[in-house]
Amino acid sequence: MQIIRTLDELNENLKSVWENDNELLAYVPTMGALHSGHISLVKKAQEIAQKTIVSIFVNPLQFSPSEDFSNYPRTYEEDIVKLLATGADFLYYPDFDQAYIESIQKVKASEELSACLCGASRPGHFDGVCTIVNHFFELIKPDFAVFGEKDYQQLKILEDMLLRQQSIIELVPGKIFREESGLAMSSRNNYLSDEEKLLAANIYRLLSEEKKSFEDSSLESNSEMIDGTLMNIRKKLMQLGFDVDYVDFKWSRIFVAVKVGSTRLIDNIEINV
Ligand code: AMP
Repeated sequence: MQIIRTLDELNENLKSVWENDNELLAYVPTMGALHSGHISLVKKAQEIAQKTIVSIFVNPLQFSPSEDFSNYPRTYEEDIVKLLATGADFLYYPDFDQAYIESIQKVKASEELSACLCGASRPGHFDGVCTIVNHFFELIKPDFAVFGEKDYQQLKILEDMLLRQQSIIELVPGKIFREESGLAMSSRNNYLSDEEKLLAANIYRLLSEEKKSFEDSSLESNSEMIDGTLMNIRKKLMQLGFDVDYVDFKWSRIFVAVKVGSTRLIDNIEINV
């Protein structure tokens, strides 16, 4: 695996891939602290393209001043070991300074798609995501970009960004990878104590139970039933002691965001309506 730090190195390494019509390039953007969810995306990238590139960059533009940018887990040495074991071709690990980051062309997320869910709770977050992802797309020029359904709203917003740009990059979704307990893997799980992890496993348990009772119900599915399901999930999460940010329904999925202590966790599940 080539570890690339600078723009010159990036161009040198990717030149032959860009010029070879028989070599497609799949890209997996990450903020590091890699877990098996990230690795599942790298494996997906390897299935669809001859060459794979992963980036690690903790994007300051997607954190608000009150969020955890400076504490965000950075586990570079362990990340490299995992990527080497997976057999990614390139790791792009840039060291952009503040002036460079500020000079990046700003890209705004769709107002419609970012008005709800995490966009409502984290103003400006998806503008920061679009700006950085667009910049990395311009530098890396991949054929495919693989994103996890864990961040489903992000996936929809980036899909919309590519559509508006009439980009040729194809966005490929990857399923949510979970701990054995059902807890969706996340770099932020590193913040949780063992006890908090046990509590957090209830998020997926509740989502799965409510999905099942919704889908098993003999009643016609309608918006009242969805509202009832959302209310049940919210009530049960609160009873368990979660600080609930939202429980909502969109794109045939139920979305949840909660805080466990000071750690914000999100999850979602598809519902057959
Ligand atoms: P992050 O490093 O958190 O910015 O995530 C990088 C990519 O990994 C994003 O496309 C995420 O949606 C994806 N991802 C994060 N957690 C998971 C997971 N548990 N399963 C699948 N993909 C994930």
